[in-house]
Amino acid sequence: MPCAFHERRPYPFQDLDPGCQFHVGEDELTEIDGKSWCDFHLPIQTKAGNETEKAKWDEQRISDFNMCIFEWVTQAETEEKTCDLTGVVFPGYISFKKEEPYHAMHFLKAQFAGPVDFVKARFADNTNFVRAQFADNADFGEAQFFGAALFREAQFSDNVNFGKVQFSSSAYFNRVKFSGPAWFDSDGDLSTPEKIQNNVFHEVDFSDSTFRDTISFNNRQFRGRTDFGGCTFEKKAPEFHSCTLHQNTNFDGATFPKTFADNKEWEEKSWVKRTYEKDLKLKAFLRVLGQEEWEKKWKAELQKRWGEREWGSAERAYRTLKLAMEQVRARKEEARFYALEQNCRRARTDTDWSVRLVSTLYLYTSDYGKSFKRPLAWLAGVTSTSWLFYTLLGGSPNEEIFDFTLTQLVRPFNVWLESSQGNLNDMFKQTKFVVKLIATCQSLFSLSLLVLFFLALRQNFKRG
Ligand SMILES: [Zn+2]
Repeated sequence: MPCAFHERRPYPFQDLDPGCQFHVGEDELTEIDGKSWCDFHLPIQTKAGNETEKAKWDEQRISDFNMCIFEWVTQAETEEKTCDLTGVVFPGYISFKKEEPYHAMHFLKAQFAGPVDFVKARFADNTNFVRAQFADNADFGEAQFFGAALFREAQFSDNVNFGKVQFSSSAYFNRVKFSGPAWFDSDGDLSTPEKIQNNVFHEVDFSDSTFRDTISFNNRQFRGRTDFGGCTFEKKAPEFHSCTLHQNTNFDGATFPKTFADNKEWEEKSWVKRTYEKDLKLKAFLRVLGQEEWEKKWKAELQKRWGEREWGSAERAYRTLKLAMEQVRARKEEARFYALEQNCRRARTDTDWSVRLVSTLYLYTSDYGKSFKRPLAWLAGVTSTSWLFYTLLGGSPNEEIFDFTLTQLVRPFNVWLESSQGNLNDMFKQTKFVVKLIATCQSLFSLSLLVLFFLALRQNFKRG
């Protein structure tokens, strides 16, 4: 019985046997869940979720394992073949730091149980991390991918660093799950053509991926198709500060978090801890109020400040995206990020109440200029409600009252004109003053709604 591993590989291994690539003798196989495995493919968990012997390997054993891996890599490099590490289960920390660039590497469905270090690693050809699983930190800082970088359906369970990474060709991150924070930032140094290259992203595809925490692309220059279609941003707004986006940037179907301050783990945040420890003024306060009372108050204050900070940073992230979309004249996306920005501004407790009120009205009447149907519907509502009031006050429904209602639309505030007084006396008698007030409100609302309608129309169909 050879090793039980079975996976059909894509190019360049499509003609190979889908079984284990390592030629390990039968006497060296280990049995898990009724199947025999070589050391490379040996799982670290049984199907029932229990740890296997491999999960308990000591440092020496892990180091020996890594040595074998590097021997395998060197062998492939010497033969100038793609290095096939498909399905390998890496039991602990491994570093792929190397002076020379790697040839084509294949990590399809590989599992990294410990932290993995690809810092400054260079990949001369296509690199395949499709369906790879990273259980711990994954560091690709300053790595260089000269061929395509394929990360489709990979899963990152902890911190991921792609800071200053260089993708000279396309990078595919479709349907990837980022459970921890992920950084794709660069330093923004554009002083020499070489340094510019370090900031550039060509085609990048993150479609249908899930980001559970921070995701940032600060200082990146997007020079090719950029796809975030169908992405889910669960807790944080994506950061694109100081970026240049490409015209073909897609956020269709992407979902953004609706709230930023209800995170139950807020007390664990480093900022909260730092502030908690450093506030000397409140420590002086402690002497007066007593420990318990102080802790309670300070905690409430910190939570409030933390909430404002979270909303504020989301607001800035959306504003940056809005401006970036404005630069590439992507009106629909621009309107969308403007609405998201306003949503954050409205939610912040340090925003003035009048701003919040106007913002709320703008939201309900035209969805921040995105909808031109909404102001029309409101206009119809305001007109028919006013008509109902006039009918009640005038006694019975008749054509005159209907005309009067529509007159407030085309000749606003005409109830205050001298020429209208006779007509008002005839129609409403004693209730004349109330009618005047309602008519004024109707004119005011109708005018505002018409302005909103034209603004939304312009927003939706603006040329260029
Ligand atoms: Zn095997």
